Parts: sequence; C-alpha cells; structure tokens
Amino acid sequence: MYGKFQKHLQNELAAIDEAGLYKRERNIASAQGAEITLQDGSKALNFCANNYLGLADSPRLIAAAEKAMKDRGYGMSSVRFICDTQDIHKELEKAIADYFHTDDAILYAACFDANGGVFEPLLTAEDAIISDSLNHASIIDGVRLCKAQRFRYANADMADLEEKLKEAQACRFRIIVTDGVFSMDGNVAPMDKICDLAEKYDAMVMVDESHSAGVVGPTGHGVAEQFNCYGRIDIFTGTLGKAFGGAVGGFTTGRQEIIDMLRQRSRPYLFSNSIPPMIAGAGIEMFKMLKESNELHDRLQENVDYFRDKMMAAGFDIKPTQSAICAVMLYDAKLSQEFAAKMAEEGIFVTGFYYPVVPKGQARIRVQLSAAHRKEHLDKAIAAFIKVGKELGVLR
Ligand SMILES: *Cc1c(COP(=O)(O)O)cnc(C)c1O
Repeated sequence: MYGKFQKHLQNELAAIDEAGLYKRERNIASAQGAEITLQDGSKALNFCANNYLGLADSPRLIAAAEKAMKDRGYGMSSVRFICDTQDIHKELEKAIADYFHTDDAILYAACFDANGGVFEPLLTAEDAIISDSLNHASIIDGVRLCKAQRFRYANADMADLEEKLKEAQACRFRIIVTDGVFSMDGNVAPMDKICDLAEKYDAMVMVDESHSAGVVGPTGHGVAEQFNCYGRIDIFTGTLGKAFGGAVGGFTTGRQEIIDMLRQRSRPYLFSNSIPPMIAGAGIEMFKMLKESNELHDRLQENVDYFRDKMMAAGFDIKPTQSAICAVMLYDAKLSQEFAAKMAEEGIFVTGFYYPVVPKGQARIRVQLSAAHRKEHLDKAIAAFIKVGKELGVLR
C-alpha cells in the first residue's frame, strides 16, 4: 500500500519545493537569544524569534525551573482532573489572572490547545462566532471544532464587523474573536472600538494576546491595558512561549464561570498532559519579575523605536507598527526570499514572507525586536539591511 502513497507524497513535496514554499530549518547549537551559535560554529543575530522580553535564556528563570524540577519532579504523567493538580499550577493560574485583571485562568500545553478548546464547550449551533480574517490558525481550527455559526470580518475593519454583528443578531449568543497583535503586519486590534460594537450588538469579546502580552500597552500588559478595556473583555488566551519566557504552555483567562466550564468540558485540558513543574515554577517567577520592574518592556520599546526610525531614515518602506513586529515591505515574493537569504549571509536572521502567508504582492521581511538586542546588534542589522537593500536595488 505505502508505495503508491509514497509516490503521491514525493510528488506533493516536490511541488512545494518548486513553488519555493519548502520550509527548511537551521540547527541552533546554543541557547535562544539575541546572538545564537549554529551547529557549524558560525554566529548570527536573531531577529526572527518571539523572544520579545529576552527571557528565553534568563538565568533567573532557569534557576526557578531547576528549583521547581528538584522540588516537584520532572513530569506530571497525568491530566489534572484524573491525578489532581500541583500547588504551583494553581499558583501560576492565579498569577496569570492577576496579570490580566481577570477572575481565574486555566493552563494548557500550548495556546494552540487553549484556542482549540475554548469554543466547543461554550457555544452551540444556536450561537455565532465573529472572527477577524487574519486570526491565528489555532483560532480558525478551534472555530471549526465548534458548531456555532461562523462570520468573518476583514482585518480590523470595524464597518465590516458591524455588518457581521447585524447579520448575527438572530443568534442566541455572539462572540467577537480577535488576535491582539496580528503577526504579519504588527498592527494592533482596535479593542476599544471592538468593545463598543460588542456592547451595541450584545456580543462577548475574546482576544488572543499571544503577540501582544508583554509587548503592547504602557507597561506591556497587552491590548486591554493599551485601550483601557479592563472589564470589557470576557476571554483572553495567550502563550508562555513568546514574551513570557519562550518555553511552552498556554492559557485561557477571563470570567469565572467560563473558566469553570472549560475545566469541566474543554477537551485539550481533559485529555492532555499537564505542563511540567519546571514550566509552572519558571512561569510564577516570570510574572514576579514583570511585577517588580518594567525595565524589559521599556528596553523593548526603545529598541522598536530606534530600529523603526533608523530604517525609515534609510529609505525603507515600513508598515506602521504598534508592536515589536516590524514589516519591511518589498512587495515582490522572489525579492523577499533573496533578501532574507542575503541577510543570513550577513549573519542576520530575519524572515521573508510572501503569498500565501501574506496577500499577493505584499511580500515583506518581518523583523522581530527583543529586549535582548543591544544597540550594536540593532546597528549591525540596520547596516546589513542597507547593504543588501542597495545590492538588490531596493534602496538607491
Ligand atoms: C503563537 C501563537 C499561538 C500558539 O501559541 P503556542 O503556545 O505556541 O501554541 C496562538 N495564537 C497566536 C495569535 C499566536 O501568535
């Protein structure tokens, strides 16, 4: 049997490669950080990690993880409702709820699971989910697993959202779902306007803070802080795998009864392992760090401003960003690939995105800034951008 299927897969893989869409991975042989070492010993500056607060190699988090592992073991070998929960898992849930000013929180193995398990336990075919067209794949999959009616509005387009809310008025319950920061353009969802429309049309609001928590808002607490929407958002989801330390783990946080129901019915929670003690221990320490000082977020913001201003002064076409994602627009798919490859030769890792990841004719280089970047890292990246930009005729 496998022979025919093998041939089929070989053809499909070759087609992916020919279309220039084959994803290849480099092997990093160091900790994640601003500067990384590859397997061949060469070094590079990393501008494509979600390591927004630079915590991925934090000595304080590593020590907290080690301590939790020593005290509470390596793994849990069970789901929580069968074998009970550890005190530190509850403590981390409380820290998450404190951070987002919510009632309670529930942990998952990943935010992918949080989004996959949030809709189906709460909504039925009588209800409506109204989702931003650029929402993350895990939200799209979560919506697919739920029988609620689906409505899609154009990215951050409030007129279109209002249309869809009107269409959904006959449904029993309505929920608007959006990413906090959209990862391709780095734009922020207009939460204040979304909450206004939610109130006008009697809808609940859910936001995925994966790229926004730790990053946007005056002290980096995400879009609720940025738009002063505390108390107006019913459900937040997020990841521990980006700004919050970069390891693994996801969560849903929000209204008490919603979290209570997820603990009873959410399938990725009920049928998947608990996060290991070291993740819980380091997570608790991470929220403690963010409470003590805003230094990391301030440094990230300085880095974003510095990079954006210098790149614009050099003549690059930069999407206006309100986050730590900076899209350098090139428009041409092939050019974006070439540009990223030449940047790698200069020792700078950035990602080229083109159709179908972004709309046709909207190819770009995505740069992700981090609090771990120092001035000399930024200057080196900017110099490489200018050099490659001139070589490829992007800059005159
Ligand atoms: C990264 C991301 C996720 C997935 O997070 P994991 O914890 O890595 O599964 C979900 N939603 C959004 C918006 C993301 O950017």
